[in-house]
Amino acid sequence: MAIDISQYKCEFCGKTATNILFAAFVCDDPECIEKARITRGGPGGHMKRKAEGKPIIPEEVNDE
Ligand SMILES: [Zn+2]
Repeated sequence: MAIDISQYKCEFCGKTATNILFAAFVCDDPECIEKARITRGGPGGHMKRKAEGKPIIPEEVNDE
């Protein structure tokens, strides 16, 4: 089942999300993409979440 990304907002600026990168919803803004990359610890970040038994798709991302 496909996810309708447009129903989600960019986690960093609040605009409508257009991408899921590193298990974060982000827009097309390169700054947000970079933030997602850093926040998730790079390409392996979502695999780390998975290894910890957390959902890959972030429902709530307030655990910083
Ligand atoms: Zn954004």
